[in-house]
Amino acid sequence: MAVTHNSKEVGQMNSNDRKNPNLIADWKTLERIFIRPEDEACRKTLVKYMEQILFGLHDFLNSNVGVTQEISLLELTNLYRDTLISPDPEKKLESVISDIIHKIAPRAVNVASPYFVGHMTAAIPFFMVHLKTIVAALNQNVIKLETSKVLSVIEKQVLAKIHRLIYRRDETFYQTHVQSVDTSLGAFTTGGTTANLMAMWVARNHFLGAGVEQQGMAAAMQAKGVERAVILVSRRGHYSLKKAGGILGIGNSNVLAMDVDQHQRMDMKKLEIAIQNLQNDGKTAVLAVVGIAGATETGTVDPLGQMADLCLGRGIHFHVDAAWGGPVLLSERYAPLLKGIERADSVSMDGHKQFYMPMTSGMVYFRDPGAMDQIAYYSNYVNREGSVDLGIKSLEGSREANALILDSSLKIMGSRGYALMIDHGIETAKAFAAEIQQRDMFEVVTAPELNILTYRMVPPEVGRQLEHADATEQEILNDYLDELNIYIQRTQREAGKSFVSRTRIGPVFGSEGARVVLRSVIMNPMTTGAVLREILDEQERIGQGFCDPIPQIL
Ligand SMILES: *Cc1c(COP(=O)(O)O)cnc(C)c1O
Repeated sequence: MAVTHNSKEVGQMNSNDRKNPNLIADWKTLERIFIRPEDEACRKTLVKYMEQILFGLHDFLNSNVGVTQEISLLELTNLYRDTLISPDPEKKLESVISDIIHKIAPRAVNVASPYFVGHMTAAIPFFMVHLKTIVAALNQNVIKLETSKVLSVIEKQVLAKIHRLIYRRDETFYQTHVQSVDTSLGAFTTGGTTANLMAMWVARNHFLGAGVEQQGMAAAMQAKGVERAVILVSRRGHYSLKKAGGILGIGNSNVLAMDVDQHQRMDMKKLEIAIQNLQNDGKTAVLAVVGIAGATETGTVDPLGQMADLCLGRGIHFHVDAAWGGPVLLSERYAPLLKGIERADSVSMDGHKQFYMPMTSGMVYFRDPGAMDQIAYYSNYVNREGSVDLGIKSLEGSREANALILDSSLKIMGSRGYALMIDHGIETAKAFAAEIQQRDMFEVVTAPELNILTYRMVPPEVGRQLEHADATEQEILNDYLDELNIYIQRTQREAGKSFVSRTRIGPVFGSEGARVVLRSVIMNPMTTGAVLREILDEQERIGQGFCDPIPQIL
């Protein structure tokens, strides 16, 4: 291996300069690099950067701000077009790490910035990086006991803790099930998408019987005398439920989007009529009704208690998608917003959202500890019948021991520590909405129930015209507003200091269709009212630069 190496040399990655005659892949080198840094220089580089990342992540990221115009996506993709794997090493570990720090990290997105309020991905407490590192170092596989031992036991305990947070069953119940070999209170997944998929998988098999897993949908539906199976969710439902419809053979067009009321919550009257009609036709199986606890776009919570009433009386599986809002249960002040969740047959939650875990981690919970028997799979080399292996009732095969991260974090923070962040998010979002409302240039479109809100810029001149416009004129004015708000979001993103996202929500004032809105998600405890006011100030400045003339319709 190279004895001399300039660690500052971080040349472009192309095939011309990557040939390094000093580096060869041989057994001696492999032995040197497999178990520890190959030499003192390499060790020093690693320690230096790891220390920066492990203890100064915040400073590190702040000095490396993300998506800017500094380099275009096209320029960036042109740097990564080489598709040959070099037979011999191109670089020493030391210089690979140095490349990551100097060339890749600065071009990643600084999701930890308090000004990054557009998505459900944001800052995590610094100790999460340590916990993730330890999980990687232990490299346990919780698919089975033989590759994880205590980590599987800890996973069952953490699952019971969160199950208890949701369902509040008594101590005897949890003593029976926490380490039970036969029953499961839930499962860890890769995220909310797979958690929802698992819940729908269980619901489908529960309704159609075990035969559906063996013979498939056609045979199972015929046996049941139904021609169609449906899942009902409001228009604000997450698209992962559509994927579940596709994967489970239900058909994603049979994941039916129910209307919402003016607060973006499930319209209960329409839901009841829809269920009645579907059940009356005698040919349709209603596999599940999904309530949302924290809708992705608006943060709104469906009337979970009323939905539970409706489902329980009709033998319909009631699932609550709490991928976003689940951890609100940790807040004494706001947990009542999720009232009714304890009556759900299943609940999904994300670890990497408001549990502030690193990417990626999700969970699904079932009220009935026997529910997951519907999806049990065994094999002779792992997951033998009668074993406690967590891989038996799981969508995934091999899995990392993410439960250790959640378990540790719950110990480090306590439910009150989490509640501080949850309460801050909700209260800051409410104050932000008040600030928006009070400014001439903006209107709130969906007020925050949790910590997500949508709004848009409406210059007073357009606002005044909207009030007096007929339907056609309103369309023209709203088309103008769509362009304006797209321009604001894009320009702000490209300027690189702040980030809000955008989506389309309908109906907004004076429009039947879905309209462009700016969306902000307040989950970073460092995001303050002052930060949000700066974001609005910048948006007002950007708005002044929008060149399209305001339509004059009067
Ligand atoms: C984020 C989210 C999901 C999907 O979760 P992933 O972790 O992105 O797979 C599902 N439902 C809701 C309500 C969400 O907010």
